Amino acid sequence: MKFNPLLKWLSLESSNMAIDLGTCNTLIYTKADGIVLEENSMVAINKKTGELIAAGKKVISMLGRTPEDIIISEPLEDGVIADFKVVEAMLRFFIENIQKKKLFIRPKILVAVPAGITPVEKKSVINTIQEAGARDVMLVSEPVAAAMGMNLPVKEPAGHMIIDIGGGTTEIAVIALSGIVNRVSIKIAGNELNDSIQTYLYDEYNMAIGKALAERIKKEIGSATLSSDNKEMEISGRDLVDGLPKSIKIKTNEVYEAMKETLGLIKNAIKKALSETPPELASDIVEKGVFLTGGGALIKNIDKMIKEETDLKVKIAEDPLRSVVKGAGIILDNIEENRNLLMESI
Ligand code: ADP
Ligand code: MG
Repeated sequence: MKFNPLLKWLSLESSNMAIDLGTCNTLIYTKADGIVLEENSMVAINKKTGELIAAGKKVISMLGRTPEDIIISEPLEDGVIADFKVVEAMLRFFIENIQKKKLFIRPKILVAVPAGITPVEKKSVINTIQEAGARDVMLVSEPVAAAMGMNLPVKEPAGHMIIDIGGGTTEIAVIALSGIVNRVSIKIAGNELNDSIQTYLYDEYNMAIGKALAERIKKEIGSATLSSDNKEMEISGRDLVDGLPKSIKIKTNEVYEAMKETLGLIKNAIKKALSETPPELASDIVEKGVFLTGGGALIKNIDKMIKEETDLKVKIAEDPLRSVVKGAGIILDNIEENRNLLMESI
């Protein structure tokens, strides 16, 4: 039969979606087109009317510049939905954007959620996604999705340790036989590293900078260990003493100094997870190493830091910001054979 684009259009299958609803970034995958959306999990809302003014990347440029009646919200801040109505509006906006050119079909949606989600939170995630337009909602835990996205053999008896350093949470999970054997989750991740940089500049230079700049410093010159490549970056902010704008130069090893304590908390969580891993699986981890994903895996020398602390091999995902959505997409595309990877919905 000749390929008919209309069939693809109308096909229910191809409108199905996998969503990584992260604290910092929301990604959406569809069978038909692969990863179709990568946006910041952020919205701007008119305080008076409740109307959604913008969502995603666009909101970044509005940070710290909004008039009084506009509020900016990151409704997933701590890894679970902090503000349901806002998440729903954001998702509806994203989903409608993707479907703009297509016939509106209510898709089946597979959502990746934190492994430690409570039954109450689960219920609200499902409701929220349904309200945002889904016909049917399925759940998968983020570490399982991430492991699938990294092409790890999650169904085998051998254990794999996944360390996902996101924006709001660091989740460490050992996976074997399609399930999570043990896990440690802390609310310390990329956002806290940005905060540490802000605090450092405040203390050492009497200088206030915005969140967005702190994040840029981390990405551009930050390092998780002392580095011989001591780069320099010129930054501007406000002097806390006279209130005037000022510029300074900051170096890689200062950024390391700023982040050191927060990184220490991440190291401790990894060691805790290792100490709680059953011996059989621990020996698998010694053999295979640990697998690092999430945006935090892109911090320079983070692999070196974990190796120095644990003496284990560390492998960084090929595409750390996309492991979860890729894995959820793989599960969605072969849903029958992957049913055992899904989370119970109730
Ligand atoms: P979430 O799943 O919580 O939305 P992500 O996995 O998308 O989180 O990662 C977002 C975090 O990764 C942010 O804190 C961001 O600053 C950080 N990040 C992204 N790219 C880089 C980079 N190149 N270097 C350091 N950190 C990064
Ligand atoms: Mg994530």
